Formats: sequence, structure tokens, C-alpha cells
Amino acid sequence: MAGQVATFPEKYGRVPHLVVILVGEDPASQSYVKGKGKACEVVGIKNTTILRPATITEEELLGLIAELNADDSVDGILVQLPLPKHISEDKVIAAISKEKDVDGFHPLNVAALWQKQPCTVACTPKGIIKLLKEAGVEISGKRAVVIGRSNIVGLPVAKLLLDENATVTICHSRTKDLAAVCREAEILVVAIGRAKFVTEDMVAPGAVVIDVGVNRDAETGKLVGDVDYAAVEPKASVITPVPGGVGPMTICCLMENTIECFLKRNA
Ligand code: NAP
Repeated sequence: MAGQVATFPEKYGRVPHLVVILVGEDPASQSYVKGKGKACEVVGIKNTTILRPATITEEELLGLIAELNADDSVDGILVQLPLPKHISEDKVIAAISKEKDVDGFHPLNVAALWQKQPCTVACTPKGIIKLLKEAGVEISGKRAVVIGRSNIVGLPVAKLLLDENATVTICHSRTKDLAAVCREAEILVVAIGRAKFVTEDMVAPGAVVIDVGVNRDAETGKLVGDVDYAAVEPKASVITPVPGGVGPMTICCLMENTIECFLKRNA
């Protein structure tokens, strides 16, 4: 990607520009935003981080987004979630121009994904498919189980697996006998947000396990996934660690989406 971006100043007169808006001082959000900035540096993308206090009004934030939408020098806009409770995340996501929606959360991008139309695909689901392909996992014809049905991870990843011709089951908090459903999975994607929730008995021998969860271990304070890595790793054929698996690939896809948005606006 860095090599590709290095050719842009000569071809287009500038490099892509990603603006990240961080509202408040949540340490996890600060660390995610820092990681995004570092990745921009590595790839050669211009990054501006705009900090706003948690007391910013919804109207002020929407006004800032409108300014960035109208700014021709900006290719991508990302508002770090979660936002303070008094601000509607749905309104904020919908306010970002579809063309600058590098996160792929805008309703028009989501609708386009479900209609198999060209769109910006959300970074984490896109990254999961990339990870599977890079690991040499054949997706077509496989039984995939996704735990979690959020708009950000569970649902789009299930759709992308379906598009790759997997047979997909989506599980959630009301799924009966989740362990039995999980044991059917040849590909198991876990996006719940509960430390070490998936135990060894829930995984079939040789299964591919993608752990999306990011949690703090109550005892050690360290970052851990939704899967009990130490117990499941010997049984799985492929397993993604936390930290280090889905997270970095998500950031890689953010860089890719920013470049795609830049090229669509400039080429
Ligand atoms: P979310 O919106 O809270 O969704 C969690 C999902 O898990 C819901 O669909 C919920 O079911 C389901 N769930 C909760 N408890 C369950 C249980 N006991 N059994 C079965 N299903 C259960 O979370 P999210 O935004 O999708 O994120 C999930 C995790 O991924 C979090 O840890 C988040 O930090 C992480 N994440 C990582 C990345 C990355 O780049 N690595 C990106 C995004 C998110 P219901 O629908 O029935 O409530």
C-alpha cells in the first residue's frame, strides 16, 4: 500500500487524507485512534485527528461533519465510537457523506452490501475475510457459525461469508444450546465482547476460529479475546490471537478503504 500511495503525488497532486474525530477521553478510544494515526504514517496517508470534549453537542458534531463533507481536501471521515450517550450514533453515521465513509457504516453502504452493489465494506468484516484467505482457508461450501449479530461485525461478516458461498448460521444471546451449534462449525467467528467465552468443548477438532472480541481480563488487566486461546488453540487448525489478529487487519482495511475513497474521488 505504501508503494501505491507514494505514486499519488505525481499522479494526483496529493496523498489521501483521513480525518478521525475523537469525542471525549475514553482510554480505549484514544488507543484505537493512535493506532489508526500510526498506520497512516506507515502507509503515507495524511491523518488529521480532531479532538472534541465529551460535552460537545450533537448539533456541533453534525456541523463539524458537514464542514468535512464539503472539504475537497478530505477523502475519509471516521468518528470513533462509542459516542457520549447524548449524541445519536445513528445520526452521526448517517451524516458522514457515503463517499467519505471509510468505516462502511453509512446506511447506504450497508444497504449496498446486502444488495451486492459496489460499496465500502466495514473494516472488521472485510479484514476477517482477508485473514481467512491469507491463511489459505477455503470458505466456499463450509459450515460457518457467527456468534454476534451487531451491525458493525456479526451481520456484515455473516453476509460476506454467505457471498463467499459458506453456509452460515448466526447466533446471539437467545440461541439455544450454543455449544452444540458451535461444534458444527468448520469456521467459527466470535464477536460477542465477553472474555474467554468460547471454551474448548465448543470447538470442533480442526475448526478455523476467528476471535473478534477485545476485552480486559478481570484478573490480569491484559487484553483478551472472546475465545479461551490457550485451551482452544491446540484443537483449532487456524486461530487468531488477541491482541494481534483481527485488530491489525481491521486497521489495514481502514487504510485500504481510505485509498479506495481517494481514488473514487480523484481517478
Ligand atoms: P455488540 O454490538 O455488543 O454485539 C454483541 C453480540 O454478541 C450481540 O449480537 C449479542 O446478542 C451477542 N451476545 C452477547 N452475549 C451473548 C451470549 N451469551 N451468547 C451468544 N451471543 C451473545 O458488540 P460488537 O460491536 O459486535 O463487538 C463484539 C466484540 O468485538 C467486542 O469485544 C468489540 O470490542 C470487538 N470488536 C473488535 C473489533 C476489531 O477490530 N478487532 C472491531 C469491532 C468490534 P444479542 O444481539 O442477542 O444481544
